[in-house]
Amino acid sequence: MSQISQLARSIAASPTFALNEEARLMRERGEAVINLSIGEPKNKAPIAAILSSAAKLSSGEVKYTPPDGLPSLKKAIIRYTEENYDRLVAPENIVISAGAKQSLYNILFSIIDPQDEVIILAPYWVSYPEMVRMCYGAPVIVRPEDGTFHPRMEDIVRSVSSSTKAIIVNSPNNPSGEVFRDDFIASIVDFCERKKIYLIMDDIYHKLVFDRRKWKPAYSFTTQDIESTHIIVVNGVAKSYGMTGFRIGWSVANRRLTEVMANVQSQITSCTSVVLQSAAEGALTGLQSVVESLRMMFENNRDVITQELSTFNGVKTIRPGGTFYILPDFRAYSSDSVALAKLILKKAMVVTVPGKEFGLEGHLRLSFAGTIKDITMAIERMKWVLDPTSPNEIYISDRKCVRDWM
Ligand code: PMP
Repeated sequence: MSQISQLARSIAASPTFALNEEARLMRERGEAVINLSIGEPKNKAPIAAILSSAAKLSSGEVKYTPPDGLPSLKKAIIRYTEENYDRLVAPENIVISAGAKQSLYNILFSIIDPQDEVIILAPYWVSYPEMVRMCYGAPVIVRPEDGTFHPRMEDIVRSVSSSTKAIIVNSPNNPSGEVFRDDFIASIVDFCERKKIYLIMDDIYHKLVFDRRKWKPAYSFTTQDIESTHIIVVNGVAKSYGMTGFRIGWSVANRRLTEVMANVQSQITSCTSVVLQSAAEGALTGLQSVVESLRMMFENNRDVITQELSTFNGVKTIRPGGTFYILPDFRAYSSDSVALAKLILKKAMVVTVPGKEFGLEGHLRLSFAGTIKDITMAIERMKWVLDPTSPNEIYISDRKCVRDWM
């Protein structure tokens, strides 16, 4: 008899973390690796976050907080929700967790009964299906029409059954960078409210939107109040403030569900560290120009990577409307994205994430959260590996490399 549970055995490692570790080890060996796999801004943490957590640390008062979060951070989240979502919520509607990831897990754990179905829109964030399965639920994947990244309402409606408990929507989207249309969000809100299906809005990238487009929260499309709506919001400081390592996220939901989630969290982690919650409070109440600087940098990087990819023979791209990811279609070279990512890593030392991990084969996810230099160098190397019309020789670091496999 196995010592490990069947369910635990079946859960895949997070491929993005595994690839990131591989890149780190390669760099440690002195190899000129460029990592386009990880989803994190390279900025230093906002000064307001550092000062606020340093003040908490130096006070020496580092104790438990209530399981659902530090009251002063909740106050900051209430203000954030009012400003960004035009909704006045109460502390009883909020649970603060160790990243948006834990918020999502708390939600799924609190709403899923065995065999309940959760609709996930491909291309999706790698953790959604695994998390649903970890709660003994069944992920139901809905794919977009070939050549597009935008979900269609009719496909979603067709996939809904009497077992559907929730739909997860992530816009701006990881991995495609697609920002879903307002009319789509309006339709899915209306559908979920009518059918009493939870609509989990993963809004972690909502401030990273380009081309002067205004992101609209799902709340703006419902007339239901916070206690009766089926919308659940997830957000956090990881992406907009570049605070991935602080591990602070939160959920906004009705009081009953929030109470259950707080109970669940109280039995798992007790609470998130008070030092890190203080950092998040600093970020939310400090100078907000930090977010706009990041957003502008990503928009510029988006322009550069889209331009570089446009001269890559056979590669099809859809210009991202937000986030710091792009998901080009490499099927002209291979429909096996895992093999392709391996080849690019081996020959060019560029780390990418196979589209297969996001439910969309034949694509590679490239993060443009890094520097322009890394982006241009990485695309040049990828062209050298794949595109026969690109120059035959390239310098990787100070080593001259010749393409001898075509
Ligand atoms: N949702 C999406 C779509 C993400 O891309 C990520 C991070 N990669 C998260 C949630 C988790 O964010 P956090 O770091 O706050 O756990």
